[in-house]
Amino acid sequence: MANSIIFAENKLRLGIRNECLHFILLSPCIIFARETIYQTKYHQLKMEAQITRRPYTIGLDLGGTNAVFGIVDAQGNILEHTSIKTQQYSTAEDFVNAGVEALMPIVDKVGGINKIEGMGIGAPNSNFYDGTIAYAPNISWAHECVVPFAKMFSDKLSVPVAITNDANAAALGEMTYGVARGMKNFIMITLGTGVGAGIVINGQMVYGSDGMAGELGHVIMRRENGRTCGCGRKGCLEAYCSATGVARTAREFLGTSNEPSLLRDMNPEEITSLDVSKAAAKGDALSLRVYEFTGKMLGEACADFMTFCSPEAFVFFGGLTKAGDLLMKPLIKGYEENVLGIFRGKAKFLVSSLDGAGAAVLGASAIAKNIEH
Ligand SMILES: [Zn+2]
Repeated sequence: MANSIIFAENKLRLGIRNECLHFILLSPCIIFARETIYQTKYHQLKMEAQITRRPYTIGLDLGGTNAVFGIVDAQGNILEHTSIKTQQYSTAEDFVNAGVEALMPIVDKVGGINKIEGMGIGAPNSNFYDGTIAYAPNISWAHECVVPFAKMFSDKLSVPVAITNDANAAALGEMTYGVARGMKNFIMITLGTGVGAGIVINGQMVYGSDGMAGELGHVIMRRENGRTCGCGRKGCLEAYCSATGVARTAREFLGTSNEPSLLRDMNPEEITSLDVSKAAAKGDALSLRVYEFTGKMLGEACADFMTFCSPEAFVFFGGLTKAGDLLMKPLIKGYEENVLGIFRGKAKFLVSSLDGAGAAVLGASAIAKNIEH
């Protein structure tokens, strides 16, 4: 508590803007103090909400382009939704003010803020423990600083607000409303522009010591001559098995052979994973090999993940899963050929049952529903 007071006093005296606290956060004791302040308030609000048995939660899916708010009931129905443009604001304060302004009319439609149990946010570079978004490269008002995002919404709405990254949100969404309902051990893998993961062990989301656990997209699959990844390292799973990785594989295959392919009619730089899956569905041999390569590597990665926490299932979500068996068959084959004998045949491989457009909002709302401090 003493640390909390020191932090509050320093902040007051120096007149520091919330979103530019990062230089202060180099001190571990102050990080601790800030988490303590936020979690204490979160806990109080959560208790109030539980006592009054409020029926709905708010989910916010904060993407690089759109910020989508939804109000969700206990069965996972999105009753109301609205959105604002993420990048249209120069500061986090402006964004939060605009968000609350957009949100309140739909909150009123369901009976007002007293009907809201809490708000969950799925956002890139977010930290569940202290409620911040830090150095998010694709969000203009958060790419050079630490934004106390959850606290800003909580102060405005007077409901508990929790935040985590979008893959963790997806995992919580599946656990609450989707194919992982009732499961206590599973790994969610999101296959979009990048590869994300959310790990659930013994019914609990794994956040790790710093809130950043579960970056399975950045396990290194190729130690030699690996592709450069967006994280700056080489050979990461994400550089191969994301949607952009699939397009890169297609370009590589086209560039290293003269094999005929439907993809040769296209500008190589414009090829997307969807083009590859369409060509594969027409029997294009090169495109089929791209999916075989991608699925096999994902299966090999899952075999390694299995040794870590023995999940009951791997649940996949995202654009690449639309390829269906083109991806899943080589994935399961790659897994079975590489997994430790004691795990063979045990894991299920599932594709998310949640509707793509609403899944991120549902996942975000599930953060508020599932998490106890
Ligand atoms: Zn990486």
